[in-house]
Amino acid sequence: MYDLIIIGGGPAGLTAAVYARRAGLETLVLEITVCGGQIINSQSVENFPAIPSIEGWRLASDWQKQARDLGARFKTAAVTGVELLEDRKLVHTAKGDFEARAVIVSTGAGHRQLDCPGGVEYAGRGVSTCASCDGAFFKDRSVAVIGGGNTALEDAMYLAGICERVYIVHRREEFRAERHLIDAAKNMANVEFLTPFVPAEVLGDDSGRVRALRIRRVDTGEERTLEVPGVFNATGMIPQNAPFANILKLDKYGYAVAGEDCESGTPGVWVAGDGRTKELRQLVTAAADGAVAATAAAKYVRLMK
Ligand code: NAP
Repeated sequence: MYDLIIIGGGPAGLTAAVYARRAGLETLVLEITVCGGQIINSQSVENFPAIPSIEGWRLASDWQKQARDLGARFKTAAVTGVELLEDRKLVHTAKGDFEARAVIVSTGAGHRQLDCPGGVEYAGRGVSTCASCDGAFFKDRSVAVIGGGNTALEDAMYLAGICERVYIVHRREEFRAERHLIDAAKNMANVEFLTPFVPAEVLGDDSGRVRALRIRRVDTGEERTLEVPGVFNATGMIPQNAPFANILKLDKYGYAVAGEDCESGTPGVWVAGDGRTKELRQLVTAAADGAVAATAAAKYVRLMK
């Protein structure tokens, strides 16, 4: 039996693993794919204290190595649920069950699907959520990026270096992206801002791939068709807490209701990172959650033993 199982190996989970090991807990991290969370696809992370600039994958890999070197164990497995037993938690996965005295849920958030006809149908066939993975497929062609957050602006600038033209399609005139990203994108000759527009339909060709994107102006209803073989969906994330509805209290958006102490309300269960109700979802706040949750879990386990 482990002292602590951490579900999700993003910045919150990896920080929790570092703190848990330093507190002497036998710790297992269960991650469905690759550790690192959202930063895996970030070209450059430039807002983590004391690191002016680092590629996302490198930061993730250093972070995991730090936890592993301290003795945390890692398994790749999809967690399907957690069962509360009298003195322990049974974590069910597609690869079998694991037991622990305490659990931290740090599963973060997943990509929101594109909310228009064709948005899901053409996923992987021209609709993408990863500019750095798929941008090269559209070399010297035109693409659209949907969204007005940091991801949308970063993706657009990355794609502008590869593609002929990049349309940023955003539903409001105001952007939630940081000012310097907006200014930088506006200075690129082949980036065009289309606001306030929403995607109306992704249109396909005979081979079943994206041919164009129809967009609709929110205020006037005017429609335009962009002849683009690539549509990059940067409309943000939704929390991945559904399998834990029995141990977390979820709000109407699916975020786990918890304060800065990361207490879930279920003894021996904490929730850390972007899946928690909070004002600011950033690497640094996810990392802070991981530290808080693991330190509380260490106290809890010590009292149990
Ligand atoms: P985000 O900030 O939530 O932005 C999502 C964007 O998509 C918003 O502009 C939103 O519009 C739009 N949107 C949402 N639902 C939509 C729909 N159904 N139809 C059309 N548009 C829709 O997501 P994000 O850009 O992925 O960023 C997530 C977090 O990661 C943020 O905290 C961000 O700062 C951070 N991040 C950091 C870096 C970095 O530091 N290098 C890079 C990327 C992301 P509204 O604005 O109208 O709601």
